[in-house]
Amino acid sequence: MTDAPAPLAESGAPLRLFNSLTRGLEDFRPVHPGEARVYSCGPTVYNYQHIGNMRAYVFADTLGRTLSFKGYALRHIINITDVGHLTSDADAGDDKMEKAAASQGKSAWDIAAFYTTEFKRDLGWLGVRDPAKWTVATDYVPRMIAFATRIADAHCYELGSGLYFDVSTVADYGRLARAVTDEGEARIEEVEGKRHAADFAIWRKTPPGETRQMEWDSPWGRGAPGWHLECSVMGEAELGMPFDIHTGGIDHREIHHPNEIAQNQAYRGCGSLDCAEHSGARMWMHNNFLIDRGGKMSKSSGEFLRLQLLVDRGYHPLAYRLMCLQAHYRSELEFSWEGLGATLTRLKRLVMAAASVRGAAETGITDRRLADLLAKFDAAMSDDLNTPVALTLLEEAAAMKKVDASQKRAALTAMDAVLGLQLLALSREDLRIRPKTATIDEPAIETILARRRDARAAKDFAASDALRDELIAAGVEVMDGDPLGWDWRLDN
Ligand code: AMP
Ligand code: ZN
Repeated sequence: MTDAPAPLAESGAPLRLFNSLTRGLEDFRPVHPGEARVYSCGPTVYNYQHIGNMRAYVFADTLGRTLSFKGYALRHIINITDVGHLTSDADAGDDKMEKAAASQGKSAWDIAAFYTTEFKRDLGWLGVRDPAKWTVATDYVPRMIAFATRIADAHCYELGSGLYFDVSTVADYGRLARAVTDEGEARIEEVEGKRHAADFAIWRKTPPGETRQMEWDSPWGRGAPGWHLECSVMGEAELGMPFDIHTGGIDHREIHHPNEIAQNQAYRGCGSLDCAEHSGARMWMHNNFLIDRGGKMSKSSGEFLRLQLLVDRGYHPLAYRLMCLQAHYRSELEFSWEGLGATLTRLKRLVMAAASVRGAAETGITDRRLADLLAKFDAAMSDDLNTPVALTLLEEAAAMKKVDASQKRAALTAMDAVLGLQLLALSREDLRIRPKTATIDEPAIETILARRRDARAAKDFAASDALRDELIAAGVEVMDGDPLGWDWRLDN
């Protein structure tokens, strides 16, 4: 590590990102010149991830792709939390994993394996690239114990229920959150003996007479690590400290990340937060929520939207990726089925425009208009990942006529490598997904449509309407005059 600021990327626009710690835009200056080390808080694998959670990974992936585009060698880590996350982000409730295991009659390890596989499949569908490493919390328990041992004397106190971090022992606790949350106030009741509302568990002892499925011996008794400790340890182990960027959803700005920062300050023996290096990462970045009409999408209500449901209803998963990119990551994004339908149409248009150059071989870009668009695209992405603007530039390039196909293909490839929509690999047929509820197959649809065309040609509108109703009853919507040349779609 070096304290001297590393030079900005040699070419192109300087990369500026919003750092939640300072609440401002900052130039990206890597800790290790030429490299970008990024840690993203991953899922707690006690349940499926909903599409709101998936927004967090699309954001982290887009950030990673942008860093690669800017020429940095990316080392991205995503963790899998398979122990230690309680039903509240504060220290209340049961371990989410143990609770899921009990209610589903499976072992906590089986639950973790099952939901990890499901999660990774969804990431693949969304074109999220694999991280350099998946860090699984239970693989790091000895390192967690070593980390906790190093900070225990000066920063922690022991209660009957476990080892707790005393937040008054570090400067500026909670600066990232900017406010003491109501949840912080409420949780003082939850654990008897806690000195401050915001103090949190580093190690939770297994209550006397109980056995947990996941528990380890430690200097503070048999038990399990606290969730916040896990991320501090895995980040330090895999990326060194400080590393460049720590990401997560905006809810983590309130409790989880302030707690990670407090631990990191303690571990690095640092009295103040004046230097962002001491928080463990130079930049802390947070995506805003996916909401629906009822508010923030969450798992606790029991009812939530999974990517699988979107696919079951006939929407290609990359339409959801595009939906995420249409909003800036720091804005709330409201999900609606109508919105997703419009996004799918936008994706189809892009795929069709890209199809005209799919067969071309790529060459260097000398065309001034294409080079201009690429420069503007670079500027948009370098401006705190302005994906809404970047998308319009991609569309401009895709729509460009009278341009060398090889150069156009090269420009689209470069832009799509950042946005991850797989435009040159997808065909319009790939985007037409049969909803589960449809009761008719494509050849049968085409046969009825041919009969309907004949009826219309003969001006027999009664017959034409009857055939249209027949299709609707089978879950197929007829779209007369569809500008995309799709004259039907499978209805939801
Ligand atoms: P969890 O599995 O609950 O730890 O959440 C995984 C990731 O999803 C975290 O980064 C959360 O901050 C993020 N997240 C949770 N709910 C939402 C939401 N509605 N919209 C966007 N991100 C979310
Ligand atoms: Zn985390």
